[in-house]
Amino acid sequence: MLKVQDYRPQPFIDFTQPENVAAYQAALQKVRAELVGKHYPLIINGERVDTEEKLTSVNPCNTCEVIGTTAKATIEDAQRALEGAWEAFETWKTWDMDARARILLKAAAILKRRRLEACALMTLEVGKSYAEADVEVAEAIDFLEYYARSAMKYADFGAAETTWFEGEENGMLYLPLGVGVSISPWNFPCAIFLGMLAAPLVVGNCVIAKPAEDSGMIAGFVVDILLEAGLPAGVLQFLPGIGSEVGEYLTTHPRTRFITFTGSRAVGLHINEVAAKTLKGQKWIKKVVLELGGKDALIVDETADLENAVTAATQSAFGFNGQKCSAMSRLIVVDEVYDAVVNAFVERARALKVGTGEENANVTAVVNEESFEKISQYLALGKNEGEVLLGGEAPGEWGGKKGYYVQPTIIGDVKPEARIAQEEIFGPVVAVLRARDWQDALAIANSTEYGLTGGVCSNDRERLEQARNEFEVGNLYFNRKITGAIVGVQPFGGYNMSGTDSKAGGPDYLANFLQLKAVTERW
Ligand code: NDP
Repeated sequence: MLKVQDYRPQPFIDFTQPENVAAYQAALQKVRAELVGKHYPLIINGERVDTEEKLTSVNPCNTCEVIGTTAKATIEDAQRALEGAWEAFETWKTWDMDARARILLKAAAILKRRRLEACALMTLEVGKSYAEADVEVAEAIDFLEYYARSAMKYADFGAAETTWFEGEENGMLYLPLGVGVSISPWNFPCAIFLGMLAAPLVVGNCVIAKPAEDSGMIAGFVVDILLEAGLPAGVLQFLPGIGSEVGEYLTTHPRTRFITFTGSRAVGLHINEVAAKTLKGQKWIKKVVLELGGKDALIVDETADLENAVTAATQSAFGFNGQKCSAMSRLIVVDEVYDAVVNAFVERARALKVGTGEENANVTAVVNEESFEKISQYLALGKNEGEVLLGGEAPGEWGGKKGYYVQPTIIGDVKPEARIAQEEIFGPVVAVLRARDWQDALAIANSTEYGLTGGVCSNDRERLEQARNEFEVGNLYFNRKITGAIVGVQPFGGYNMSGTDSKAGGPDYLANFLQLKAVTERW
């Protein structure tokens, strides 16, 4: 019997051990030999379908290098995928919950065996360092293992509690919604892509998965594993394509029952708006699950262990170049310790090694030209909104390689209302804000429209308890980094403009993709 209590998160690989570094480098070679240059077609109704046009993945750390290609879905492909998924749903919804869960568990087992290959592919396709790629693949395995086990609590009639009533049998049935579309970002192209489709699938829905344009290879790799694990034809349709074309078509389509989206605030709000419009022939109100951006803050007060705070700030800000929705992009320090904290933070960040993912640099290139241009504009703006204490340039090449390189950047004495303190930059750029005292720091932390992650470094118990209730974020951390949520341990999702707080990797996440039916029989 599958039980969620038996779930344990994957341990991470220790890259201080030379043999693990050597194994990673061997995986990079294997991926170069076997996967680089590969083409992933669409998968519709179990068949591989190619298209005239293609999408190309480029190594962001060396833009001369093409990593591979995927097909590029057309509207007709999306139409066929949607129709095929509804046909597949008729059978898939009748499978026993444990039979569906078993496919996820088998996929987890395959991914465990191919863990380093998946990591190495992401190093090349999106520029992840070894540890960043490894924690992501661990998270992907965790999603499969956790959702497979969590699904069992929705399996039986009567699983949801009802009150006894004389002369009747009453109970509730959890039923899948139907066919949905899952649209994912490039920054966690393995874990989020996989988690967002595995959850609706395991409870009996069919899914059309559209990965981000920049990360189609790792998505194709993961889909192959799910098919190898036994997912029947049509249950998962793989549809790489352009968000504003096939994504828009699917999110607006009257036969789309639900949408699960992780990405930017702008696109998420647009999807929310178009999905709310009822079209001719539409029988339902679409369910929309949104996980959006952040402007995440770490507060350091005068009672904190400053060494620990600086470590937390450095890890939270520059891990994967600040390209995490959970990344610290605001450091809020109370005046009394401002200089000590900021000086130490700048020195720690100055020591970070910039370079390629393959070299396992601490800070690599940002994902694409659009990001590079956007961050460059914020760097220019930052020069007027504060004092550049570190970095401030986007050289566009490093160590003789052309790539989307941005220097780790720290801008001091930024005002809370400044644009670089309010808007998501999504790069290795930190705004440091000076607070008068603890209360001022908390007010500054809550002064954006986002509410994803946040942290407090303090040894004052009353302040921590106040933050527990009043810091407006979905994921709050004390005296540690604010990134790296673990499936089942720290269910993840944000408040306000950061999303619908659906808590991926949490005990109720699967309920987003189910509907309840209360059934009564009079004896
Ligand atoms: P985008 O919003 O640009 O893209 C996300 C996905 O939406 C992509 O697959 C994209 O396709 C697609 N898309 C774009 N336009 C449309 C449209 N009109 N209709 C339907 N789909 C569309 O985000 P990024 O990929 O740049 O990801 C970074 C963002 O994701 C950041 O804001 C980050 O904070 C957020 N994020 C949030 C997380 C959370 O849990 N809250 C976790 C991870 C990231 P295409 O690639 O073709 O443009």
